[in-house]
Amino acid sequence: MYNRRKAKVVKIGGVAIGGDNPITIESMTNTKTADVAATVAQIRALYDVGCEIVRVTVNDKAAARGFAEIRHKVDFIPIVADIHFDYNMALAAIEVGADKIRINPGNIGSQEKVAAVVAACKNRGIPIRVGVNGGSLEQDLLDAHGGVTSEGLAESALRNVRILETMDFDNIVVSMKATNIPMTLIAHKILSPQIPYPLHIGITEAGTLYSGTIKSAAGLAALLTQGLGDTLRISLTADPVEEIKAAKELLQSLKIRRFGLEIISCPTCGRTEVDLERIANEVADRLAHITIPITVAIMGCVVNGPGEAKEADIGISCGKGAGLLFKKGEVIARIPEDKLADTLVAEIEKMSSEHADKEDKDAF
Ligand code: SF4
Repeated sequence: MYNRRKAKVVKIGGVAIGGDNPITIESMTNTKTADVAATVAQIRALYDVGCEIVRVTVNDKAAARGFAEIRHKVDFIPIVADIHFDYNMALAAIEVGADKIRINPGNIGSQEKVAAVVAACKNRGIPIRVGVNGGSLEQDLLDAHGGVTSEGLAESALRNVRILETMDFDNIVVSMKATNIPMTLIAHKILSPQIPYPLHIGITEAGTLYSGTIKSAAGLAALLTQGLGDTLRISLTADPVEEIKAAKELLQSLKIRRFGLEIISCPTCGRTEVDLERIANEVADRLAHITIPITVAIMGCVVNGPGEAKEADIGISCGKGAGLLFKKGEVIARIPEDKLADTLVAEIEKMSSEHADKEDKDAF
């Protein structure tokens, strides 16, 4: 649908990104990595809501020890080690089985240190993400461009990529993140034609749950609709589980991926005769676990209601004190208002288990 840039395929553990692979969803733990139990619990919670790649900081020796234990306990999702400055942390994380490392070769220090990290990654067959961030751009680029600019972000990424390429390393993922959306978009426009590698996209330091979700969605939608982005992270000052929920909603609303329920609900108006907000929220909350693609229409009246409800797999169109239940375009029942949420939930649960039964049969 969107003319996606064809990037080289890179494997992060069992997950391939780039090429025609699905655009993946990432997050980062915000527990102390040394606190193994808390970090493993958070990784599990992220995985359970749909996280596909998780990043963990390895910022000191205690974190490196924690990372080794975490790696041992977590075999269900690829883990990326996030490294700044200390190449020993990178070597330690690679040694114990990191699936990818995120570094900037430019801030690792001497050529020998970068070469040691590259050799270890080659040896284990794991990729490196060059992760450029507007907040930590090299001083010479800040001086040359008069502060953080699109040109500086792209130049930094290209410089770091070239360092790896001169060491005959091309198992690379690239990200350029700034908190300024237009700057991020232009940086991607400059860089993306110059490199074949997959792009990890994100708007960094986007903000709190509400504003950060909107800001990230605005920036990432602009990139994705230009065909840019192979894996993404929505960065929020919130529980990282919220990042995954927002990312899934974003990809689903752009029709890039389907994850489960898509709820079409009207904004309500003076015509509405039922408590539609309560019904829509209750249905969304009670069916958050559904993973098959079902479109549900929850409409407040008979003006647009029947039309939308007929387009959806299932839906209700409400009137005074009751609603019509539609399934596959047909009215199947008239339901009193106090039973609307329960009926929709029960019908969708039934559709979900029928789908699971069919998949089981098809497997034989
Ligand atoms: Fe109002 Fe009906 Fe439109 Fe809902 S569907 S906003 S109740 S006119």
